[in-house]
Amino acid sequence: MTEAGGSADEAAVEQVITLARSLQLRLPAAGEEAHARASALLALLEPILVDTAAPRHDPAGHGPGPGPDPQQLTSMAAELPAIVRNWCAATGRSESAFRASRTRFLRGHDVAVEFPVRTLVRALHQRLRDVGAIDRDRKVSLVWTDGRPSMTLPIRIPGWTAVALPAQPVVLASQYVHHEFGHVIEVASRPAHWSLLDRWQVSNLAAETAAMVVEALGRDERWLRELGIEPRAATQAAGYCTHEDRYNRALAALIILCDQTPVHRRARLVTELTDGLIEAGHPQEEAGRATYWRTLLAAYSAADELRQSLIRRYGDRWADQERAWQRLRGLLRGTGARPRTGQTGRPDHAGETEQAGQAGQAGQTAGPLVPC
Ligand SMILES: [Zn+2]
Repeated sequence: MTEAGGSADEAAVEQVITLARSLQLRLPAAGEEAHARASALLALLEPILVDTAAPRHDPAGHGPGPGPDPQQLTSMAAELPAIVRNWCAATGRSESAFRASRTRFLRGHDVAVEFPVRTLVRALHQRLRDVGAIDRDRKVSLVWTDGRPSMTLPIRIPGWTAVALPAQPVVLASQYVHHEFGHVIEVASRPAHWSLLDRWQVSNLAAETAAMVVEALGRDERWLRELGIEPRAATQAAGYCTHEDRYNRALAALIILCDQTPVHRRARLVTELTDGLIEAGHPQEEAGRATYWRTLLAAYSAADELRQSLIRRYGDRWADQERAWQRLRGLLRGTGARPRTGQTGRPDHAGETEQAGQAGQAGQTAGPLVPC
């Protein structure tokens, strides 16, 4: 996604990042020989990328707070059947489609809308640069995947961020494209002198909160239309992503509740709360990642609060205003995470220090991203 007319060097850098990321994602390489060549190349290119298996974490005391109590979680989770039924009614799908494949249902593979995901990516990137949410000289290297979950990560090359997105033209793309660009903004806010690993291992809560504030724009019909998405697709995507947002919050509540329930009572809990719509296995398995889901649920509330504060200050059209983005970016610089003592890895590029001094110095605090 370098600018048209960008230098040949930039195009070459982008190709290297794309190649490294494709290898890391194990995107299909044809044949044995190609596979062996790809593995050898990956070994050479690996220093460009962070090891995405490195755990993200929230330092003690700065993760999600206690969150909703069991009673609140129960009433949130009990919304699931109604949420799914409304979603079915709105998209002309059946509950059996939901039961047959939740992944297909959630992403909207079975909704007859070709969502122009590539158009959205180009237009959103441009718009975010125009309103000062992303610096003009920041480069985004995009890898289209065959349906793997999307992901954004810092890389060793100064000024570049790598994003992987599924290429399918599904309506849910409006949500995850916006979400990942939220991560592009928060990744860019991390001090350039931090090690690659430290830039990766920031507070998950702060990172997800920022991503969710931007994600909410993917549910805003007017915003989508102004990005050039044709009105019908904009209406469908905004509505669809609103249903998905409700669903995911309720699902998070269900999983956290499962984690707090003795194992032998979980299956019944899930069946009762979801009217048998969701088989008990899924939330029970996910209960093993309860910390992640607690962070996610906390990020939803923090993002709601932050969005409301932006609306109070700048009005409904906050995202059209450069000063609103400057404020969001300022908050991001003031939070995130402090590198652990004894930085891991070597600094990526000690020369690039545009954000040093604002964050990452001694005394930088970790923690949730909250309006102040
Ligand atoms: Zn995220």
